[in-house]
Amino acid sequence: MSVAGLLIGTSTKMNLTSSEAERYLGTLRQLVEDVVDCDLFVLPPFTSIWVAREQLAGSNVAWGAQDVHPDEAGAHTGDVSAAMLADLGCRYVEVGHAERRRDYGESDALIAAKTKAVLRHRMIPILCVGEPTEGDSEAAVRFVLRQLGGSLAGISGADRSRLVVAYEPVWAIGAGARPAHPDRVAAVHAGIHAWLRSPDGGGAGARVIYGGSVDPSTAGTLLARAGVDGLFVGRAALDPAHFAAIARAGQEHARLGPIGSRMAS
Ligand code: PEP
Repeated sequence: MSVAGLLIGTSTKMNLTSSEAERYLGTLRQLVEDVVDCDLFVLPPFTSIWVAREQLAGSNVAWGAQDVHPDEAGAHTGDVSAAMLADLGCRYVEVGHAERRRDYGESDALIAAKTKAVLRHRMIPILCVGEPTEGDSEAAVRFVLRQLGGSLAGISGADRSRLVVAYEPVWAIGAGARPAHPDRVAAVHAGIHAWLRSPDGGGAGARVIYGGSVDPSTAGTLLARAGVDGLFVGRAALDPAHFAAIARAGQEHARLGPIGSRMAS
């Protein structure tokens, strides 16, 4: 697996029972076995992480979780700690998805605490940010930088560099939505990369991936834009053939050159 190449992944959200996940992951593993030039991941629900470990161990697809509790252990009924996820071999943990901010009122401060827990256990946080409505891209950059500043409070520069930031405009994700225009994605990614490289951001080297209604027909165009270090896929990836097609688009673009040469200025 590459160290910091393009990153293509999916969260299956609250889909697939463990039996269905077993079939899905078994099929996916075969379909993407030749995609070796970019990093791949799947985030199943907590109930199927053990299935991912069984199905994906020794493959080129990493697995992880869709959420985590910030505390190490204790009286938190229904929650799951970072230690538990690390013990299951998780490489990535998503924090701050728009649906959790919406459904559970998650604040930037809580997301920062979750991010720290993930980092403490040497896993990679996938920190989701995104503006709620489609204004202009300058307003979007201002919005996501505010979210990033809040969600990274108290996290050191070295740790920030290990992050994955997922730019997921809220209006572009989920049923009935359409992907953000590649120009807008490039502009917002450039803003995020510039901030990460600044003294305030302090996270040069962090990857910034785009999520929001990506499918096999849009993946190549999005990946071709400077500063787009990968894709985070929802609905389309529930079909393993579609995930594989998107991963193949990643492979093609990864072969165009190292990530530094694709960096937004
Ligand atoms: C998401 O919700 O993170 C997402 C990327 O979903 P979709 O691709 O279905 O818009």
